[in-house]
This record gives sequence, structure tokens and C-alpha cells, in this order.
Amino acid sequence: MNRVTLIFITSIGLIGCSIKKHDLTCQRINYLIDIKSEVAKNYWTDFNREILFSPMLYYTKSGLYTMNANEKLKNKILIEPYNCNNSKVTIGFSKIIDTTNFHMNVSYDDSDSSALEFKNTLGMFSDVNLTEKFIPDIKDTEEWMSMVIHEMFHQYQRDFKEFRKKQISSQKDFDRGTLDYLFKNKEWYNKSIIKENNILLEVLNLKDNEIIKKYIKDYLRTKEQRISKVKNEEGYEILDLENSLSKSEGTARYIEYCVKLTLKGNTENKKLSKIDNKYQASRFENYKLDQDKWMYNLGGGYYYSIGFNLTRVLEKLKINYQKDIFSENTTFDSYLNEYIK
Ligand SMILES: [Zn+2]
Repeated sequence: MNRVTLIFITSIGLIGCSIKKHDLTCQRINYLIDIKSEVAKNYWTDFNREILFSPMLYYTKSGLYTMNANEKLKNKILIEPYNCNNSKVTIGFSKIIDTTNFHMNVSYDDSDSSALEFKNTLGMFSDVNLTEKFIPDIKDTEEWMSMVIHEMFHQYQRDFKEFRKKQISSQKDFDRGTLDYLFKNKEWYNKSIIKENNILLEVLNLKDNEIIKKYIKDYLRTKEQRISKVKNEEGYEILDLENSLSKSEGTARYIEYCVKLTLKGNTENKKLSKIDNKYQASRFENYKLDQDKWMYNLGGGYYYSIGFNLTRVLEKLKINYQKDIFSENTTFDSYLNEYIK
């Protein structure tokens, strides 16, 4: 498959170069970048190696803003400079308006030369007002920001060659739709996933290390049996694809969760409070993960939740996985196998 779209499925400004001190777009972008850096500092240090790992496109009702546009993107669309006060990224403005499509993804395309993302990894996101139009539950800047930083983490992941290679090769014969199909239509498969996820949730509650190891063995055995049954009965070798998706989506969801943990302890952003009617100070003041059960329970795309829970298990067990999970493309199962030895 040539086209690789990674959805391991945000304003108002005047054109020109004058500095606009109270510009909403600028303030939201500054806030986004600051929170991203804070999340990285607290939970995933290497995510701060760069402010952005590839350009981002920010769709609003009044036009398209670009963040750190590179030459490839500048060759595709006309981008005028847009000055934001104290911004850590370079902002540009293009008159393109797209209010009919929802953008919240990282894309790369190596076949369609007319695509904006042709041979160029781009993060794309709709502003908070447009997002609410498509997902009515997303009503505020903070919740929206957790989704955008999830996408920024996908950009970070794609910075690693080994990870990228596997992500592409694992989708060459079939994609995530096959996994979704199996989960929805094969009862034995669905039951196995439910069991695997429940074991991981149990591990997160357990204290005794020997019992934890027993549960992890059970998890690995149950998964192995499912993967081999699907190969024998359905003819699909799904291991690489599932490992790749649970890793990319699971760790990105973990970062999304860490955004909320970070905001929980933050004081009000006074600048934004004054000008952003979508900003709710102290939005996550009393945040607890069980307010977001969808994050760890099975729903759309089981590999998101399984991957999120696996990431939390590695965190709980204090396994030093962040150093090579992308650079060496080490699988979750390898860390667990090592742990139970
Ligand atoms: Zn994702």
C-alpha cells in the first residue's frame, strides 16, 4: 500500500507582518507549544529534542496557518509570514479555507504528487471551533489540545527510521480495517482481546511482583494463541501490524493522558483567559483517569486501549522502554518477555 495516512484513529488573524499582541491564534499556538514541552519534560524527555518534528497545518474558518513550514510545503502553497509575539515556532498564513473536512492526523503520501503531504510528513489539525463542529463533545481548548499533542507525538514517532520502516511494511498487505473486522466479527477473537485487556488492567492494580509475572505470562500466552489461530484459520499474519499499531496509538494515547495530568497541576493561563471563549481555566483540576474510561476500555480500535494499557504497565514496572521503543523499534512483548525471565 502506497498511501500511508496515519490517523491512529483548531482563529482569527489579519494577514501581514505586524505584531499582534493579543492575537488568539498566536496565543493558542504558544500555549500548545508550551504545554507540549511541559508534558515532554515530565513524561517523555526525548519528545523535547525538537519543538516540532515536522511542519503542522492549522485549519481555521479564516484560513490556514502553518507552523515551521519547510521548503517542500512552501513549494506547494503560497505562505505569507505571520508574526506572533514570542512564538517558538515559525508561523505562516495561507488563504486556503477548509471547513468541510475534519483534520486531526499525521499524513505522508508517496504516490500522489498533488497531495500537500507528498513525500513530506505533515501534522494537520482543525482549530477548536472547527473540531467542535465535527466532534460536538470537544468544546474547549484544553480537551482539544490533548488531541493535537497526541498527533504531535505521531510526528515524533516518525522521526525514527526503524519505526517508520516497520510502520509502512506492516501495512503492505492489509491495514487496521482487518483487525477491526476480526474484533467485530469473530467471537473467539473478540473474547481473547477482552481477556488480554482485562489481564493488563489487573496488572495495573496488582502489587505482588510474582503474581504480576504470572499475569504477564498469561497475557503473552493468550495473545500468542490468538495470533496463531488467526493465521491458521483466516490466513492473516497480523503480528507486525498489531504490534505497530498498539505501539504508535498506545504511546500517543499515553501522551494524551499525560497532557491532562499536566494541565491538572497548572495555574490559569491569564492571557488566554481574556481572549479565548473556548478556554476553561482549571478544566482538568479534578481530573482522574476514570473520567476517560474510553482510554483504557475496549471501544473503537482495540489496539489503542491495549497499547495504552501496555504503556502504563511498562511505566508501572519501571522498565526503561522510552530509550529504544522507537529507535530500535522494540516491541511491548519483548520488554515483557525480558521482565518475566
Ligand atoms: Zn493516533
